[in-house]
Amino acid sequence: MLAVKRDKTDGLQAQTELEGAVFDVAIVGGGLVGCVAALCFDKFGADDFKTLVLERGDLLNEDRGFGRNRGRAYALSESSRVLLDMLGLWEAMAPFAQPIVEIDITDSALDSPLRPVFLNFHGEIGMGKPGAYIIEHEHLAGPIYRALGAGDYITVCERSGVQGFEAGPAHVDITVGAARCQAGLLIGADGRGSFVREQAGIQTQSSDYDQDGIVVSVALSRPHEGKAVQHFLPAGPFAILPLVGDDAHENRASLVWSEKRGLAGDMCALSDEAFEQEVNKRFAPKLGTVKVAGPRAHFPLSLMVAHSFIGPRVALIGDAAHGVHPLAGQGMNIGLRDVAALVEIVVETKRLGLDFGAQIALERYQQWRRFDGVMSAFAMDGLNRLFSNDQPLLRELRGFGLRLVDRVPPLKDFFVKEAAGVNGDVPLLMQGKWLG
Ligand SMILES: Cc1cc2nc3c(=O)[nH]c(=O)nc-3n(C[C@H](O)[C@H](O)[C@H](O)COP(=O)(O)OP(=O)(O)OC[C@H]3O[C@@H](n4cnc5c(N)ncnc54)[C@H](O)[C@@H]3O)c2cc1C
Repeated sequence: MLAVKRDKTDGLQAQTELEGAVFDVAIVGGGLVGCVAALCFDKFGADDFKTLVLERGDLLNEDRGFGRNRGRAYALSESSRVLLDMLGLWEAMAPFAQPIVEIDITDSALDSPLRPVFLNFHGEIGMGKPGAYIIEHEHLAGPIYRALGAGDYITVCERSGVQGFEAGPAHVDITVGAARCQAGLLIGADGRGSFVREQAGIQTQSSDYDQDGIVVSVALSRPHEGKAVQHFLPAGPFAILPLVGDDAHENRASLVWSEKRGLAGDMCALSDEAFEQEVNKRFAPKLGTVKVAGPRAHFPLSLMVAHSFIGPRVALIGDAAHGVHPLAGQGMNIGLRDVAALVEIVVETKRLGLDFGAQIALERYQQWRRFDGVMSAFAMDGLNRLFSNDQPLLRELRGFGLRLVDRVPPLKDFFVKEAAGVNGDVPLLMQGKWLG
């Protein structure tokens, strides 16, 4: 099998033989979570820790901003930022990352003339440090994919799917096309429809929201001042996420707008003018009016949690393990927490001269990460179900609940820190600490 391997000059490609190759870990899926995992193993694993990344798509398109996620933006939590900083990537991202200074949450009806804010959070986690940032896909993914090409012991095979794998006592045999290679551990980072998860016989619990998330960048007529707005509407949450300005528009925001599935497609097919009218109907009046300033895309939304995050010589990370509603912008952040925890366990186990693909090491990973993944998925699910309807009694109750939280500052601090990923058993790399 001939695989495509990036060389260090970025973009140039050389051919690598996979047949008979032996790796420490093989990662299936070159999304953001899989690629950050590869970079962590390369930087924090032992000197010659060999990592294979198998991606069925085309990563060059991703790092040049032409990939399937073009136009998207992410809320990046402080703990994810620290991890990226430990990889030396944050410096390149920082100029494009808008700190969230404040968050307004409202459940008010669209025809309410005042659209009162029910709950307001400051966005800091102490000492003026932002709890989260909003960054567009190209500025987040670009440095990650470029670093991947420069990794010393990373082999990246693009346009390469896995045909199958078989776990043995000391390694896992992986079939890629006509070639067979080996790894100590196979990591499934291959998204919600994970082939690795399915082949490992891991069942899931899932439910479809019959909602799509519409994503688009807009130009604002007034400055956003770093404020994010979450407006719970009957069809689903409508989020306004502040962006750093660019050459064309000083005041920009990214919208993540959950809408009934059929309607989301119809909205995306509207002319710019008609689409803007729909957006302006839903927009926070205090932020003025909006103009579309980027491509529109819509993504199906569903809940999914894997019954187990591990199998024989297999670990699942990111959306392969858990798919959460994007209403709090946490999916990728939870995936990066999986990465930091798994890397810590693998590196520590290897340093002790033990088998990091063995059940005992994988059980540690599962114990550490599954509770957080499952709780986050169900918490977002509950919030989405509670808020995505127009029942008067529920509306009253929600308003009461939001206003109650608004009056309890320690509770608000807890929620901000939770979203920043700094509460609980935070992996070392996310605390800015070196491994070992
Ligand atoms: C509308 C929306 C808004 C969101 N906003 C946020 C946010 O603000 N903050 C946040 O943290 N999260 C957010 N998320 C969630 C976030 O996008 C995901 O959690 C994250 O992208 C998952 O990354 P991943 O690498 O695990 O999976 P994916 O991005 O799905 O990557 C999986 C990769 O595996 C590859 N692959 C699949 N099968 C195979 C195979 N058999 N062989 C080889 N390769 C394979 C795919 O081509 C893909 O490249 C949002 C999601 C949506 C839908």
